[in-house]
Amino acid sequence: MINLTLLGATGSIGQSTLSVVDLHPQTFNVFALSANTNWQQMLSLCEQYQPSFAVMTDEAAAEQLSQQLQNDTTVLSGAKALETIASHADTDQVMAAIVGAAGMASSLAAAKAGKRIMLANKESLVLAGDIFMQAVKDNNAELIPVDSEHSAIFQCLQGGTSGLNKIQLTASGGPFLHTPLSELTNITPDQACAHPNWSMGRKISVDSATMMNKGLEVIEAHYLFNLPAEKIDLVMHPQSIIHSSVYFDDGSTLSQMGNPDMRTVISYAMSYPQRIASGVEALDLTQNSPLEFYAPDFNKFSCLRLAFEALKQGGSAMGTINAANEVAVASFLDEKIKFLDIAKIIEKTLEDSSHFYPTCLSEVIENDQTARLIASKLTQSYV
Ligand code: NAD
Ligand code: MG
Repeated sequence: MINLTLLGATGSIGQSTLSVVDLHPQTFNVFALSANTNWQQMLSLCEQYQPSFAVMTDEAAAEQLSQQLQNDTTVLSGAKALETIASHADTDQVMAAIVGAAGMASSLAAAKAGKRIMLANKESLVLAGDIFMQAVKDNNAELIPVDSEHSAIFQCLQGGTSGLNKIQLTASGGPFLHTPLSELTNITPDQACAHPNWSMGRKISVDSATMMNKGLEVIEAHYLFNLPAEKIDLVMHPQSIIHSSVYFDDGSTLSQMGNPDMRTVISYAMSYPQRIASGVEALDLTQNSPLEFYAPDFNKFSCLRLAFEALKQGGSAMGTINAANEVAVASFLDEKIKFLDIAKIIEKTLEDSSHFYPTCLSEVIENDQTARLIASKLTQSYV
């Protein structure tokens, strides 16, 4: 049995991971689960999966959970407990599916403990890419991407990187691919979260609408595949059938295709290098024509431009834009700022922040907090 620690069990990736586990109960054992505040959902997950550990980062929620829970699961609370279950000696695989910078320390703990890390939390790479990749290398950890584009590239590179010319991430363009910039002013959170192809958490859905998600993915790809910004290309592909491509010097291009469903990506990470059933239906190309491709519009989607800028600056700039984005997206979801203010707040936060090269997690966290303060103040001026 493979012991799985699932960080972010109550989220979209968490739920899809458990549905893959349900198909293979003889192979995967749910060893530990984590969630932030939703103890009611955690209670029913604990009853169903009987994990050894359940972590609620929120202390009051942990208290509620342990009062209600009737089985042998040990309930832990606080952010440090995430690191405990991620690095536990009995953990084989860690699905890192917490959203935001809150997921960084536990992913790093899994890397330091030499685990198989199935990384959905792209923020770990965006904020602390250098430190994280070094920890993976130093501790012989196994890093498998859980992001459809990066999984596609990872799959296409199974034959090696000889003659690799560039990689190309596909982007659906979200709900506003064909909406003119002038019509984006009064977009509501529900409109921004109505993604045409993928069903995801609200924060990442807004990131898809602004295309900051793709920007963060460019940074993620830079670290995962050790490539400079010039070798990372983008193409808009509204059907989300081709998940990404790699281009070789001999004129060959390899792409990975499939229905847009994260269970394919998740099951591949869990079973790699084997493949197992994921519950996703086989692709029917005849039902998906035509497949369309467009060049990205960096003017309309200024978050994309900002992400490339931050990657070129390197160091703290990537954490700065991520922090500003998290603050701005939360304010947008609370209907305090407008959709187009998100990019303005990120750009101004980047301008107003000092730039340096973090050497440890505490410097990364300090930069994250400073950038959040700057972004929060800026947000007030847009309210
Ligand atoms: P989600 O919002 O649905 O779930 C987030 C999970 O994190 C929940 O279990 C929640 O309890 C937990 N969490 C939230 N804040 C926390 C905190 N402060 N401390 C501890 N736990 C906390 O998010 P999601 O859509 O499942 O995305 C998770 C990660 O996967 C993100 O980094 C996202 O970018 C990435 N990702 C998601 C998808 C997708 O299809 N959903 C695709 C690619 C990558
Ligand atoms: Mg993605």
